[in-house]
Amino acid sequence: MTAGEETARVALVTGAARGIGRGIALRLAADGLDVAVNDIEANSAQLKEVAEQIEALGSRSTAVLADVSDPDAVQTMVDRVATDLGQLNVMVANAGVAHVKPLLETTPDEFDELMSINLRGVYLCYRAAARQMIDQGSGGKIIGAASIVAYRPFPLLAPYSASKWAVRGLTQAAAMEWAQHNITVNAYCPGIVGTAMWDHIDEKLAENEGLRKGAAIKKYSELIHLGRVSVPEDVAAFVSYLASVDSDYMTGQSVMIDGGIQFS
Ligand code: NAD
Repeated sequence: MTAGEETARVALVTGAARGIGRGIALRLAADGLDVAVNDIEANSAQLKEVAEQIEALGSRSTAVLADVSDPDAVQTMVDRVATDLGQLNVMVANAGVAHVKPLLETTPDEFDELMSINLRGVYLCYRAAARQMIDQGSGGKIIGAASIVAYRPFPLLAPYSASKWAVRGLTQAAAMEWAQHNITVNAYCPGIVGTAMWDHIDEKLAENEGLRKGAAIKKYSELIHLGRVSVPEDVAAFVSYLASVDSDYMTGQSVMIDGGIQFS
């Protein structure tokens, strides 16, 4: 950085080794932010590649392995981002998992495991980021991954739907509490995005409904008025807005970006 240049804002994106998180991380880097990326140990090679792609776009990056359901790991991750990249201005709590199973067959342990990542993980990331932003004293943008199922659940995805519905509630309450610190809190609600997660959902829905692989995503895609399955870049473009000054007057919202499956 040369004299007179402003320090770039810093974002942290969880679950960024692939899919929507990767798309968001690369978009924020293209927007000129420095972008830290997180994922679990099992995806460390892919995560490193994403960090390298961010650097190739001219931004600084750091890759932090952490399980978002672990409070100490999340705190250490945020501390490390603040140390390595100087501050934290945008948190994207994107990491999530999907289980596809009839509710009657879902075990309490499976329910807890999903909630620990999709809800507790988002809460831990929101909290650690807010603390850091409050200490910095210059506001911030906190953004979470919800889903269209936060408004209308899918059958066979009951705990997943409940977790995303809860992210919507958490986002609203956090927005109320942290407005006084000039921190906005919003969530994005994708529809059907062609990622590893939907490959898994398609396979499991097909098993449950007696369809062949690929048939479930095709069936659900018929609900999309814009006529195509989403790509991570569709979601990333909206998160870019949520991370920018253009959304400064927006908080507590969970917005569907789904090609017109549902309407708010
Ligand atoms: P994906 O499975 O392709 O990627 C999710 C990433 O999160 C993976 O790299 C995974 O390793 C990581 N992750 C999982 N558990 C983690 C943990 N405990 N700690 C850190 N990282 C962890 O999924 P995706 O489709 O890119 O979805 C991203 C987010 O968007 C999720 O929250 C998902 O629920 C949400 N979403 C996806 C869709 C869709 O159609 N794909 C629709 C609505 C919402």
